[in-house]
Amino acid sequence: MKKALIIGSGIGGLATPVRLAVKGYAVEVFEASDHPGGKLSEKNLGGFRFDTGPSLFTLPALVDELFLLAGKDPAQHFSYTRIPESCRYFWEDGFRLAAGSQPEDFAAACAKTFSVPAEDILRYFAECKSMYDLTEGVFLERSLHRAKNYLRKDVLRGVMNAWRLHLFRTMHQVHRKRMKSPHLVQLFDRFATYNGSDPYQAPGILSMIPHLEHNLGTFFPKGGMIDIPNVIYKLALELGVKFHFNAPVETIITQNKKASGIRVNGKEITGDVVISNMDVVPTYRRLLPNEKAPEKSLQQERSSSALIFYWGISRQFPELGLHNIFFSADYEKEFRMLFKENSVTDDPTVYIHISSKYCKTDAPDGKENWFILVNVPGNNGQDWDALIPQIRANTIAKLSRMLNTDVASLIEQEDRWEPRTIERDTFSYQGSLYGSASNNRYAAFLRHPNFSRRIPNLYFCGGSVHPGGGIPLCLRSAKIAADLILEDQSL
Ligand SMILES: Cc1cc2nc3c(=O)[nH]c(=O)nc-3n(C[C@H](O)[C@H](O)[C@H](O)COP(=O)(O)OP(=O)(O)OC[C@H]3O[C@@H](n4cnc5c(N)ncnc54)[C@H](O)[C@@H]3O)c2cc1C
Repeated sequence: MKKALIIGSGIGGLATPVRLAVKGYAVEVFEASDHPGGKLSEKNLGGFRFDTGPSLFTLPALVDELFLLAGKDPAQHFSYTRIPESCRYFWEDGFRLAAGSQPEDFAAACAKTFSVPAEDILRYFAECKSMYDLTEGVFLERSLHRAKNYLRKDVLRGVMNAWRLHLFRTMHQVHRKRMKSPHLVQLFDRFATYNGSDPYQAPGILSMIPHLEHNLGTFFPKGGMIDIPNVIYKLALELGVKFHFNAPVETIITQNKKASGIRVNGKEITGDVVISNMDVVPTYRRLLPNEKAPEKSLQQERSSSALIFYWGISRQFPELGLHNIFFSADYEKEFRMLFKENSVTDDPTVYIHISSKYCKTDAPDGKENWFILVNVPGNNGQDWDALIPQIRANTIAKLSRMLNTDVASLIEQEDRWEPRTIERDTFSYQGSLYGSASNNRYAAFLRHPNFSRRIPNLYFCGGSVHPGGGIPLCLRSAKIAADLILEDQSL
């Protein structure tokens, strides 16, 4: 029986063991913290429960697939519902949009609010779908770094249709061309933040992202986002995967220039393959200090980080939904400050996620659990102790202004997560949320592959490697890494 050793139990480090265990591998997972899930974790504060990281869930079929692989009925193990409303948007000039997730509902609401033709929006969603269909097989489903994958029919189709993918425009330029309302340009530009990028730099191909939210839908797991790692962890245990918590891996051991094991808490453990779900930058810098690192990949610009406040709020807000965005008045300035000046505007866009809208037990009766997220740059040594109170004050002022209420007086419980502590808790380099940014048209090719080119038997999964960050892509990275292992090890 072949043995796989996995470093980290983030979403990629949970899905990869399931895929290898069903193929007969003995799998052991070594996790530095005391729980599985990585960035997908939870916290309780005086009767309020919060998911600490991701709040938006798309493509649940990728979780279901793991149960199907194990011969189980996903519906018996993982329960989620499709959300009828994708997001509530608020602008400083008084415009509001409660966006239905179905394309027709969304287009009708846009037509009514912004006096634009609904057909423009529907045509745009159709374009997003066709871009997604053209590129899914090329960029998302298999390694970009194995020559034979370039000879596939779907890849050749993608290449032939490259002119339709807006590779030579930015996302913002695409949206300005397609949308007649500046509010809608801003709304669609925000999809760049789904992978921590800048719409004023990211290539137009990323304007396909709304396809996920509007054509395929957004979902809410019955018990909150924490259900996602919990159900996969349970499945992995049932398949015989062994988990070791409080087990920080110190070194990846190489023998005859191949990965042959790991050192944890001073003890050496051998295996046939080693898979790192740790961010790829510290994997090389800390666990392989004597190996030549792939500098070009490691020096890619990182995605943005976030400042998150977890607020227990003493009353309910019927005007808010599960997902809410309060836009900044100057979006271009916000992204310039984030990506070029390493700082944060004094009028940041504020996202509020309120899981208690769907999961009533997440807040005491008559109250709400507000997860507030402001995009901030990665940790480059900024004076966070000075910046954080400023951002907090600006956030409270903005929400109080736009909700016409004194928000500060409603905060009963409070905690926060910020770039330094995200990095400390998950080892994500600079506290970035999604690994490297997609701010140039070569980003997908420069992201680290799911295997090491120099060290045979060493593989990678998770948000810092191909195909990128976010739950769906991490689940796909697990599939790509497991498929590569099964292929390579059978040779
Ligand atoms: C605030 C926030 C909001 C987000 N919002 C969304 C969202 O709405 N939707 C979405 O899809 N995505 C979102 N994301 C991104 C998403 O959370 C990540 O892309 C994904 O969870 C990363 O999973 P991963 O497999 O890369 O592992 P990670 O979650 O990065 O976990 C890595 C694990 O490895 C462990 N580890 C690291 N080094 C070692 C070592 N040496 N030894 C042992 N263990 C080690 C860590 O402790 C950790 O548990 C968000 C992220 C954050 C932080």
